[in-house]
Amino acid sequence: MADKDLPTERTCGAMAVHERLLRTVPEYAAARAASETRAWEVATLRAGLARTGVTVIPVVVHVVSKTNAQNISAAQIQSQIDVLNRDFRKTNPDVASIPSVFAPLTADARIEFVLATTDPQGNATDGITRTQTNATGFADDDSVKSAATGGADAWPSDKYLNTWVCQLTNNLLGYAQFPGGPAATDGVVILHTAFGTTGTAAAPFNLGRTATHEIGHWLNLRHIWGDDGTGCNGSDFVNDTPNQAGPNTGTPAFPRITCNNGPNGDLFVNYMDYTDDVAMFMFTNEQVARMQASLDSDRSTIGTVKPSPATLKFQDDPFTLKFRDDGGTLKFADDGGTLKFRDDPVTLKFRDDGGTLKFGDDGGTLKFRDDGGTLKFRDDPIKNPALEKPPAVDVPMKAPAGDLPVVGPAPFVLATPHHSMAWTGSFPEAHRAALASGEEQLRDYEQVLEQYAQAQAAGQLSDADMAEGDRLYAEYLQLFEEYRQLAGG
Ligand SMILES: [Zn+2]
Repeated sequence: MADKDLPTERTCGAMAVHERLLRTVPEYAAARAASETRAWEVATLRAGLARTGVTVIPVVVHVVSKTNAQNISAAQIQSQIDVLNRDFRKTNPDVASIPSVFAPLTADARIEFVLATTDPQGNATDGITRTQTNATGFADDDSVKSAATGGADAWPSDKYLNTWVCQLTNNLLGYAQFPGGPAATDGVVILHTAFGTTGTAAAPFNLGRTATHEIGHWLNLRHIWGDDGTGCNGSDFVNDTPNQAGPNTGTPAFPRITCNNGPNGDLFVNYMDYTDDVAMFMFTNEQVARMQASLDSDRSTIGTVKPSPATLKFQDDPFTLKFRDDGGTLKFADDGGTLKFRDDPVTLKFRDDGGTLKFGDDGGTLKFRDDGGTLKFRDDPIKNPALEKPPAVDVPMKAPAGDLPVVGPAPFVLATPHHSMAWTGSFPEAHRAALASGEEQLRDYEQVLEQYAQAQAAGQLSDADMAEGDRLYAEYLQLFEEYRQLAGG
């Protein structure tokens, strides 16, 4: 192959481009400042993110080649898209190689990539453009991004992630433009031998991680060591990455301690370090927040959002939300697997009314709200597993007959990572009486609705009966909401 010698160590031109744009594009500094402000709001003020699901971003790959080898195949391009869809969803198999102390930092970036199927003129496309060039190689001066300088023009960057694949000079593996730069040069540039996992992709950069790294920049991530040479003062503006001196290269051994960051040391397994493809596996939670903040602001027009399959919300009843476990850890696994509930000797009932999926036990009301994903239940062949394996922790699922649920001194605590809710004896008596009254009404409704549900299951309801059931259920929901507000939930 006529290409130059293959790079042996990662080098990225993103910061050189950043500094050039600061010098040459008057609006760039202000745009960067706005971008940082949004990132800070999310990281520090915990401002809500607009995109709660998975963003799917259309990609156009501009192949700019002088030699036949540089004119990489569609298969090589698809292999890169596949890598991105693993790395940005935390489904890369090598995530298992992350040192265990870093595992809790690892995050699903909730971003997927797909080759564009429609070009800017509205025509069908495979998301690939091919340009023959006379240039032997391109520097990080954006010349590959313009037909006038031997490259290929960008597609509108508010709708597409532009990716140029070409021969680069100076052992450069790639470079990216941070959010806030000119639209005509927005995107990432990758050396063809560091692109994808097949074809011309060559070790040690043949696992597609250069594009993962550069798209990280494109979504506002900085190098993890803070781009201050090898000092300890630079920052990547991310709170959950350790302070790190300089870039790590090759395949470091854990721990790699710099800047007094022991015992765990540098997060060299991060995509935003300079390690080989085989040694980088993860984004952190706060890096994901920063990328998502960018999708909210600088890149708000790109991509489409699909509901996250990993979001399952539980809405707690103000007085009784109880989970019975085996005495150990209660786990809910809803991402790709099967969510299982174990019935216990009192009856656990499921009622689906078309919109709200509701679970009701006999004592209080346990509600689950499905937010658009698919919630699956698997029926166990054993009718009542709990009868064979008595629970080690005896938590009554059902309030004693005639008794109101305990809302007094006996504490009920629901703890989640984000909030906790505790009942104490601090309610005034009148307030408690109102709650008790509301509770009784709710139970009346539940009994009637239960009769409707049984009749419906037996096929005994007319259309008018069904409508009446719906009406009663709507009333019930309204009453429940009032009750919930009264209870301060
Ligand atoms: Zn970089």
